[in-house]
Amino acid sequence: MRRKDYYKILGVDRNATQEEIKRAFRRLALKYHPDRNKSPDAEEKFKEISEAYAVLSDPEKRRQYDMYGYEGIQTRYTAEDIFNRTIFRDIFTEFGFDFEDLFNRFFKDFTVTFQRGAPTPERGRDIETEIEVTLEQAAYGGEVEINIPRMRRCPRCGGSGAEPDKGMVTCPSCGGAGRIEERRITGFTQMIRITTCSRCGGRGVIPAEPCGECKGLGLVERRAKIRVRIPPGIEDGSRLVLRGEGDEGRFGGPPGDLYVTVRVKPHPKLERRGLDIIYEAEISYPKAVLGGEIMVPTLRGEQTIRIPPGTESGSIIRLRGLGIRSPYGVGDQLVRIKIKVPKNLTPRMRELIEELARLMDEA
Ligand SMILES: [Zn+2]
Ligand SMILES: [Zn+2]
Repeated sequence: MRRKDYYKILGVDRNATQEEIKRAFRRLALKYHPDRNKSPDAEEKFKEISEAYAVLSDPEKRRQYDMYGYEGIQTRYTAEDIFNRTIFRDIFTEFGFDFEDLFNRFFKDFTVTFQRGAPTPERGRDIETEIEVTLEQAAYGGEVEINIPRMRRCPRCGGSGAEPDKGMVTCPSCGGAGRIEERRITGFTQMIRITTCSRCGGRGVIPAEPCGECKGLGLVERRAKIRVRIPPGIEDGSRLVLRGEGDEGRFGGPPGDLYVTVRVKPHPKLERRGLDIIYEAEISYPKAVLGGEIMVPTLRGEQTIRIPPGTESGSIIRLRGLGIRSPYGVGDQLVRIKIKVPKNLTPRMRELIEELARLMDEA
């Protein structure tokens, strides 16, 4: 099987832009135009540069070529796909060549050994993972980096599944047809069932030797660090979708998606209720009666709040804007006051409380 290096033929490098490819083709087409160049191999050369241009100027064909090489082009496209009239009409007209004349002379019955049947691109699988975030991260959003295994294109074979430089051979299961015909005769009826050959996936060819690294799959597992953006206000159990971050597809298929389930770790002191944060603060009886200051934890660190004199058990102090911040609104932190009733009294404390009780009875 003759291999062609289209980049070399046009004398451009592998990351050449479309503009550079076109310029290179124009220069060579003018040089080897069979009406201007009378050397015996000019015609052959002209066809060769035209084929290289037809492949590299088409983003889809170029991608196929970059991934699978000349064989990828050969197995996927027919000669008519490559020497397509519309591709060449525009470009030859632009160069000032007589398109009809050239096309009829060289390309009309130009046969290449292109085989029909291409590896069917398969979409990559979706993958799922779970992450844990703190209540603070859930409240205000942020970024979490995860490290997950996922399938990437095999670097050894470029995703073809074939051991490099060993080529392809006709599929022994279908004899190269890409399809399997099953005939069954029942009485006078003949049933023919045609299915895609599972061994070659309809390609008609299989690697002469499966790639030593991916065992022919075309994909290998790699760990990847991915940054996951946590939207503010996210709730426990929410699922985020990262499009295209799943397994890569086989044979150039699109990648799958990554689903991330977010678990919000319980906070040791604060409790979430909708957009609000609840905190229960215990204060002493004298502080409830006389008023004073206490420290309370919030999502933004400790904060001092004032207890007004005469605060009753069960009353709520609202800290505006210190709750969850989400696109739907901003919550508050609610501090519920609970008055601590002392259990182990020292004799002196007992004495004072008994005196207080007497005074209150008299009042
Ligand atoms: Zn491989
Ligand atoms: Zn087959």
